[in-house]
Amino acid sequence: MDNNDALQVWNECLSFIKDNIKPQAFKTWFVPIKPIKLVGNSLTIQVPSRFFYEWLEEHYIKILRVALVKVLGEDAKLIYDVKMENTYSSKKAHTVKIPSSNRKPLYSQGITVPLDIDKRELRNPFVIPGIQKVKIESQLNPNYNFDNFIEGDSNRLARSAGIAVANKPGGTSFNPLLIYGGVGLGKTHLAHAIGVSVKDKYPEKTVLYISTELFIQQYIDSVKNNTRNDFIHFYQMIDVLIVDDVQFLSGKKGTQDVFFHIFNHLHQNGKQVILTSDKAPVDMQDMEQRLLSRFKWGLSAELQAPDYETRISILQNKLYRDGVEMPEEIIEYIAKNIKANVRELEGVLISMIAQSSFNKREFTLHLAKQIVNKFIKNTKKEVSIDYIQKVVSKYFEMDVSTLQSKTRKRDIVQARQLAMYFAKRLTKASLASIGSQIGSRDHATVLHACKTVNNLTETDRQFRLYVEELTKKLTM
Ligand code: ADP
Ligand code: MG
Repeated sequence: MDNNDALQVWNECLSFIKDNIKPQAFKTWFVPIKPIKLVGNSLTIQVPSRFFYEWLEEHYIKILRVALVKVLGEDAKLIYDVKMENTYSSKKAHTVKIPSSNRKPLYSQGITVPLDIDKRELRNPFVIPGIQKVKIESQLNPNYNFDNFIEGDSNRLARSAGIAVANKPGGTSFNPLLIYGGVGLGKTHLAHAIGVSVKDKYPEKTVLYISTELFIQQYIDSVKNNTRNDFIHFYQMIDVLIVDDVQFLSGKKGTQDVFFHIFNHLHQNGKQVILTSDKAPVDMQDMEQRLLSRFKWGLSAELQAPDYETRISILQNKLYRDGVEMPEEIIEYIAKNIKANVRELEGVLISMIAQSSFNKREFTLHLAKQIVNKFIKNTKKEVSIDYIQKVVSKYFEMDVSTLQSKTRKRDIVQARQLAMYFAKRLTKASLASIGSQIGSRDHATVLHACKTVNNLTETDRQFRLYVEELTKKLTM
């Protein structure tokens, strides 16, 4: 049978190759190859990816040739069959969807397209003609583009760097381009906009947007399925790689490692990397130093909270696009009250539009106030008892352990009582649970603390000041 012959021939080749290259190289580059068929003197082998094929051609072509000629004679021919995430075909480029995390990763669900060797190239049977371009779905959202990314002082640097990168991916010193900033300030939007613009200008470039969570999931799957190499090769083929929320790599040693290698490969080959993060590289925790240093190679551009003018423009632009008219006064009211987050700014508009059309209510200032209030309330910072203890100890310049200690020193007792009071006021924890978390006290002690703080606030001006200042620190 074909298959058996192929296997036998290939095994003979392997035993020769094995003796002549390093064990690690053999394991990496030859073990994954599968012999598929033997027709006459033509052996077809299946390789996991295009990258793999290119690597073989570049580094092992001689030894492959010697081995094949030894086993099959002078007329030996080698045909590669690239099994992979993408389909190569001399006729047609297929589109392959990236998997969601619960499906099998795409680099292992490839479609096999045999690549016939060009008969005219008999003198070099190892050449594969006509490998055509890859088509990987970019996962880009066309609604996130530069046109609707409103410019303001808060984002000018990041936005122009993004435009520069999109004009010349891999060709600027902004590589990687790291966009960082708080929640809802437009990191994801800007990252997509760059990708969308590259696709527009350079349709032949392979652009891929991926969230760090999905990247981690794919990596874990690849380890499980023994396809780690394919995973790496797949990412090494991308021209413009956009990885969103890289802070999630924190503490993930394996994924950081693999990302480091992918990053290096892309960077060395002049490919563009775009990253987003909720913090600047200096503030990233549990991240390997060598990876952090790579993050800082290019440009780190911050997205800040938009100023009032920009907030107004964002609102007006959104209304214009939705074809909705709204009184100036209301737009101004929203822009004045929602400051820290563009997503919330949009959220208020969406609620307004929904409420007024569903309930046939006009856009009124009253409605705007109601909705804005709801948003402000929902996003109030949630504080933990831990956090309260930290803030209170810091305020009184003592350690948390001192605050929790059994001492009866007046200033320490006071700090502890304030921590209990704020825990009662700002969390949903029960008196008992507060007591056990703040120095193993019982619920009666916490109750007593709350009463004492209330009394002192009324009678002691200095104490009232403490409460006011701490309230600010804890809730703003
Ligand atoms: P992040 O990724 O930083 O959390 P997003 O990119 O998801 O934020 O942005 C949140 C929302 O705000 C998105 O709908 C986005 O379109 C919008 N947005 C953010 N910045 C701008 C801007 N400068 N102009 C227009 N829309 C913006
Ligand atoms: Mg985001």
